[in-house]
Amino acid sequence: MLKVTRATFDEVMVPNYNPAAVIPVRGAGSRLWDQQGKEYIDFACGIAVTALGHCHPKLVAALTEQAHRLWHLSNVMTNEPALRLAKKLTEATFAERVFFCNSGGEANEAAFKLARRYGNTLREGKNEIVAFYNAFHGRTLFTVSVGGQEKYTKGFEPLPGNITHLPFNDLESLEAHLSEKTCAVVIEPVQGEGGIIPATREFLEGARRLCDRHQALLIFDEVQTGMGRSGKLYAYEHYGVVPDVLTTAKGLGGGFPVGAMLTTKKYAEVLPFGTHGSTYGGNPLACAVAEAVLDTVNDPALLAGVSARAQRLREGLDAIGRRYGIFEPSRGLGLLIGAPMSAAWKGKAKDVVNAGLRHGVWCLVAGPDVLRIAPSLIIPEADLAEGLKRLDAACAELAANAMGKASSA
Ligand SMILES: *Cc1c(COP(=O)(O)O)cnc(C)c1O
Repeated sequence: MLKVTRATFDEVMVPNYNPAAVIPVRGAGSRLWDQQGKEYIDFACGIAVTALGHCHPKLVAALTEQAHRLWHLSNVMTNEPALRLAKKLTEATFAERVFFCNSGGEANEAAFKLARRYGNTLREGKNEIVAFYNAFHGRTLFTVSVGGQEKYTKGFEPLPGNITHLPFNDLESLEAHLSEKTCAVVIEPVQGEGGIIPATREFLEGARRLCDRHQALLIFDEVQTGMGRSGKLYAYEHYGVVPDVLTTAKGLGGGFPVGAMLTTKKYAEVLPFGTHGSTYGGNPLACAVAEAVLDTVNDPALLAGVSARAQRLREGLDAIGRRYGIFEPSRGLGLLIGAPMSAAWKGKAKDVVNAGLRHGVWCLVAGPDVLRIAPSLIIPEADLAEGLKRLDAACAELAANAMGKASSA
């Protein structure tokens, strides 16, 4: 087989990523092994994707069984795995209708297109989309434009118009801004890429009330918070606030690319035959895997385990933060956890990730100032403890190096 290394990346890949120095080649549960055989505890799950760890037997079985049966039909024909998954998603949530696609960005693209058609059909000029600073909704031109981070839109102008950004969790500014011209308000129940910032209950309840007042759709982007990560199947359940449209991806396929937009019967009718589509959306392989994920995750015992693990992990993380003064008390919902860097370590979350990799634990950042932890929803206690131990060692090294630098300066 052709020999490839991290150096190959720089020779043959578009440089839009800067991957870690190591290349994992095998995974099992919450452990990974790289080309050199070095082991890592996985506190990242890709980016909150492999919700059931690596190579979960039920997912491997679902994928291989379907691989021997039928791979692809397109949407000229429907297929059994897609119909079963849609039925189960509608039974498990507020939704009555499902649109399948291949990623979170595509799920949001569908949601925003639905919102525009809904508004434009209702009344001329009703097509403003309201979103929030630091939001992240994907990397298509429409979704980066709705997202609230300029670094992702810079240089890609002209951008789609009539999108407004407001401060997150600021109900007053939302109330002051919303009008009959607004067709949708788009919210991540916990801002993920923006730094693991949970919405307040007051904010989501208020957004629901204001959307009803102005006939605007309330869209929840649950691409990162969904499929059990929050400790409920979908994070909206924590808040008791039901959206009109919900997007889900990441954990939905447990590592197999799949996304979905969920909505009600009424709003689904905004997208009649021919108005939107995807060649691969609802692919039998993807839907067979996602069905196995949903069957496994939508279980009270598993979801209770998420909350228990989250508590244990946050206690461990906060203890490390106190010991070395590198980060502040953690925040988040369920197993989507952010630890903000302390004042002295501002901008250096990536240093913690790199030190962690040296010590055999894989964590993430959420922006330059927040360490993000998003392990498997079923990470075994032993792996959780070992991961914390390795992260502790990584932080000890960073703190010792910083001391050395300070005393030699
Ligand atoms: C990751 C993410 C997306 C984009 O999903 P892709 O599968 O990368 O297109 C959208 N919204 C949120 C909240 C995300 O975390």
